Amino acid sequence: MSALRKAAPPGSVRVVIILIGGSWICSSNWSAPGAAMVKWLMSNPNLTAAVIGTKNVAQWKENFGAARQGVLSASDRETLGLLGAYNKGLTCLLCANCVSRCPEHIAIADIMRYERYALDYHELARACAEYSTLTKDGTACIACGNCLLACKAGINITSNLKEIHHLLG
Ligand code: SF4
Ligand code: SF4
Repeated sequence: MSALRKAAPPGSVRVVIILIGGSWICSSNWSAPGAAMVKWLMSNPNLTAAVIGTKNVAQWKENFGAARQGVLSASDRETLGLLGAYNKGLTCLLCANCVSRCPEHIAIADIMRYERYALDYHELARACAEYSTLTKDGTACIACGNCLLACKAGINITSNLKEIHHLLG
């Protein structure tokens, strides 16, 4: 983390990003996605700290090694491009761009985050507890489609809200 702090110019915006690290199976032509993402974080001049989730020592070594290398290579960029394409429509970026578009004032990004608690962190009870506190849950969606225009990640929000309610409601 100290390397990240040094990379940030004085007065810059400080951003904390939670990243799920992982040693994924990939072609020898590509970088390990977890390592490529760490280097991508390191290349952000506005970043002063990152919180990177790791499941085991091997992932920690991979992430730490990437953080020490720092610079994105061509294969890192290729891997990130493939990862982005693969995730298109699958992974909510939690940007909340959709929220202000919703006439029903559904906390869409929060609901997507609760789903991550359940599926990525395997914390179903916590996810259900958070979901139960919402004033309006996924069932309030009237399928107007306004939010879809705001989502650069291509998420099928109306469908996802139904599925998430099935999981957490
Ligand atoms: S489709 Fe549902 S979630 Fe999206 S803006 Fe309309 S009511 Fe809100
Ligand atoms: S559903 Fe789309 S617009 Fe809404 S928070 Fe996720 S990525 Fe952003």
